[in-house]
Amino acid sequence: MTSTASRPETDAVPDTWLPEPPELLAPWHTPARAALQEQARRFAMDEVLPVANELDPQKGEIPQRILERLGELGYFGITIPAEDGGLGLGVFEYCMVSEELARAWMSVASILARSQGMGTAVADPQRRADLLRRSAGGSWIGAVALSEPDAGSDLANVQTRAVREGDEWVVTGHKRWCGNAKAADFIQVLVRVADPEPGESRSRGLRNLLLVKERGSFPAGLSGYPIDKVGYHGFLTWDLTFDGVRIPADDLIVEAGGDGDSGAGFREAQKFLNTARVHTAARAVGLARAAVEDSVLYLQEREQFGHPIGDFQALRFALADMAAQVEQARAFYRQVAHLLDEGLPCEREAAMVKLQATEMAVRVTNQAMQQHGGNGYTTERQVERHWRDARLTTIFEGTSEIQKLIISNKMLPRSPLS
Ligand SMILES: Cc1cc2nc3c(=O)[nH]c(=O)nc-3n(C[C@H](O)[C@H](O)[C@H](O)COP(=O)(O)OP(=O)(O)OC[C@H]3O[C@@H](n4cnc5c(N)ncnc54)[C@H](O)[C@@H]3O)c2cc1C
Repeated sequence: MTSTASRPETDAVPDTWLPEPPELLAPWHTPARAALQEQARRFAMDEVLPVANELDPQKGEIPQRILERLGELGYFGITIPAEDGGLGLGVFEYCMVSEELARAWMSVASILARSQGMGTAVADPQRRADLLRRSAGGSWIGAVALSEPDAGSDLANVQTRAVREGDEWVVTGHKRWCGNAKAADFIQVLVRVADPEPGESRSRGLRNLLLVKERGSFPAGLSGYPIDKVGYHGFLTWDLTFDGVRIPADDLIVEAGGDGDSGAGFREAQKFLNTARVHTAARAVGLARAAVEDSVLYLQEREQFGHPIGDFQALRFALADMAAQVEQARAFYRQVAHLLDEGLPCEREAAMVKLQATEMAVRVTNQAMQQHGGNGYTTERQVERHWRDARLTTIFEGTSEIQKLIISNKMLPRSPLS
């Protein structure tokens, strides 16, 4: 496009990036995946983006009609088997759709992570099947309460207690950062049911309980307040106090193939975090892509020194660097999603892609804001939302430092002196 071409509207979407032309499709990018990607992109740009532009500045929540559309499209059950009502696809497709949704509004991509069969691993097979079907349809959307005021990076330090009284657990403690808690149908709560013996791992005695609740309210004994965040609007993130909350004994998440005790909750949380890290990488790619696409438009729209600023080589080269970084992170998250779908061990790679993609998103959204000049530092432009949301991605689902810890621990034994 030449500098004299008619300028697109600021909110128009450039079609210079995606969809990828069929003749350039990589072998893994099958026609079925390309069609799913195109469907998700259209939904995100036509239906989610306008809502994000309206509601994010008001710190609004994802409206019911968007949740219903996600249900109609089957996106709550992308990874749920078809016989259980899902789309029967893999982490690859889940991440691909999430990238598209995050390009419009990260929280909509995030709400998908509160379904996909989460909170369905109960012991009774019939109940599990019923919950899976509800999860796929969007009537079993949850929240995850792992973190506590003194257990963030150090999850093994969870102090919330569950004490068995007859056929119930009684839960007491303080959870922090629980996204979607009040709007959820259930909260998966990481609790301590026993103390480790001296010399045992601190993660022993941790289990995941399933607190079934009504949407829009808290059950007896549970209270909380929404934390005022910098970004990531679309759903509220709660500080929760459990004061003798009663949970039926059967509402316990069971670990596939586990011994049913001894740190099962911690291992479940780790497995959940591997998929969550790749999903976070995909969301980061969506945010960075949004920033690049916004920059492509702004560089043509804004004139200084008698030229569109996109004529200046410094900005053109910065744009090229930004786009190349996004493509690199996308290729990496798709590779790790493939490993997960193949059931291959990939804890190190999941940590690597989370680290690399989220740090990239911070850099790229920051650079896009710079290219928008003063307009970038206003709420009149979308680039500030991408920047605010990208900033979170290096913190939640395990900070960048914790990813580096995981990667280096897999590569380098510590000496007995450390
Ligand atoms: C908006 C938002 C939404 C969230 N949603 C949820 C949710 O839905 N459910 C949930 O359970 N949690 C949620 N979290 C919690 C999130 O996962 C934690 O914030 C994150 O794991 C970091 O923990 P922390 O905040 O306690 O930081 P800390 O663990 O206190 O870390 C502080 C700093 O110390 C560094 N650090 C800590 N330990 C080490 C170490 N060993 N080596 C080097 N550096 C270290 C960290 O990298 C960081 O820079 C959310 C958080 C936010 C901000």
